[in-house]
Amino acid sequence: SSLPSTSNEPGSIPTSSSPTASIPTVSNPTASVSSPTASVPTQPVICSGNLGPEPAITTCTNCRQRVTTNVVYKAGAFAWLICLAFILFGFVFGCCLIPFFMDAFQDAHHSCPQCNASLHVHKRL
Ligand SMILES: [Zn+2]
Repeated sequence: SSLPSTSNEPGSIPTSSSPTASIPTVSNPTASVSSPTASVPTQPVICSGNLGPEPAITTCTNCRQRVTTNVVYKAGAFAWLICLAFILFGFVFGCCLIPFFMDAFQDAHHSCPQCNASLHVHKRL
């Protein structure tokens, strides 16, 4: 009786293990490059000298942060002039108080919401 020698040689490993060291890895562009977060609207940054009567995005001169200004409307000289004009033209006396209740006649006081610094006063005159 002969021994069944059906052992096929497993020793020959194919030499296909190519070293992957010299492959130029493409630098992935997702690594901390400016991520396009949509937090910044298309409204341009206005320097504090050009602030209008509306709240605007500006860079605070005090805390250097990009903020949207808080606007408080206060009666300025223009409101007083309108008040006098109402009196002079003989309107009903209560009408002269209109400028003190309408934002359009009042000065806009811009302040920083972060540090409460007064940034600009938009005067009507
Ligand atoms: Zn500030």
